[in-house]
Amino acid sequence: MLESYRGISPRGDLLLLRKLADHLEGKTFLHINSTREGGGVAEILQRMVPILLGLGIKARWEVIRGDDAFFDMTKKVHNALQGYTEVIDGNMWDHHFKVNEENAASLDLAADAVLVHDPQPVPLVSFRTEGAWIWRCHIDVSNPQEDVFRQIGKYAGKFDAAIYSVSRFAGSMCPNEFILPPSIDPLSNKNKELTDEEIMEAAGRLGVPTDRPVILQVSRFDRFKDPTGVIMAYRMVRKYNDCVLVLAGSPATDDPEGAEVLNEVRDFAADDPDIHILLLPPFSDRDINALQRLSTIILQKSLKEGFGLTVAEGMWKGKPVIGGAAGGIPLQITHGVTGFLVHSIEGTAFRIRQLLNNNEMAVRMGQQAREYVRRNFLITRQVRDYLSVWYTLVSKARGLIEL
Ligand code: UDP
Repeated sequence: MLESYRGISPRGDLLLLRKLADHLEGKTFLHINSTREGGGVAEILQRMVPILLGLGIKARWEVIRGDDAFFDMTKKVHNALQGYTEVIDGNMWDHHFKVNEENAASLDLAADAVLVHDPQPVPLVSFRTEGAWIWRCHIDVSNPQEDVFRQIGKYAGKFDAAIYSVSRFAGSMCPNEFILPPSIDPLSNKNKELTDEEIMEAAGRLGVPTDRPVILQVSRFDRFKDPTGVIMAYRMVRKYNDCVLVLAGSPATDDPEGAEVLNEVRDFAADDPDIHILLLPPFSDRDINALQRLSTIILQKSLKEGFGLTVAEGMWKGKPVIGGAAGGIPLQITHGVTGFLVHSIEGTAFRIRQLLNNNEMAVRMGQQAREYVRRNFLITRQVRDYLSVWYTLVSKARGLIEL
């Protein structure tokens, strides 16, 4: 399995990964989240579980179930942790717990290590029996609504460790915290090389013109991704530069607000023939890959962002990415070197124009971006890090970590 990453991933990552896997071989590693499709967590798990299996670790991935009231509530929790004001009353918290209690009764939670992703399944920790339990927080908790943060913190404190993507997010939820950014898989359909014919075929099928520069944002339809801000920036650019805007997204089963935001975005775009809003079916990985490759500039104008896998995906394709200076995006974009960080709609428009008018700069930034992702954000590094955390937890009593 690791063989296929040789020559792509940094060699040091592969060596350490092999040693860690030798120590943990045959052990069970359970991941739990709340959706199999849509969004960054599902994206990573689809790739990580087969890699762990290939390393001889018995990895499993379970998805909790819940009713509409549960997902409406957990979306509110997500919004509140990212700084919006939401009212979440005692009955809602009780329902959150009860749905997890039901899931605990039907899921097999026995494993040597259990990695629980995000707040939806966090109460499962109340039903832990064995193994090391780790909470993986993927969202931007830099400025959360206090009461919601405290309530989630009550559960987070029961884990053996918590992992965040960005150091600013760590702090007071769990006594034992780690900072590990997410990653992309260079061999997945989302990121592997495509031929020009494959790219052009996708462009034709999706109705995206290729005779003009394409500006792309790939995202769930979520207000934190600021799709209307993207359209406003595009309109400013369009006065001077001929180009096309593509907003590509698909629904996530744990995100009930998607349809509403999509309608807002459609209304806002009106019937501008140069704005292409593509509602892609789940698992459109090759099409997203092709869209990213045919684009001239990639945007991720998020206002809040856990990490922003789409940024690493765009950078890996050698594209200059303009990202909102939020959450994990500044971890990926070194302003002026591997892309541009922006704080406003005007700033976004300015950087788009700067790149459209200076192809040499766009190419250079794209090359630097790809190399930065290769060194820091490939999945082999992330599996290595998860195994390191796990190994640290099981080696606790020894005071010495032998590799
Ligand atoms: N994605 C996708 N189809 C879409 C929209 C997004 O496959 O229509 C993928 C995208 O390529 C990326 C992930 O979903 O891999 C989104 O992760 P990110 O960290 O950018 O944002 P999140 O959705 O987790 O907030």
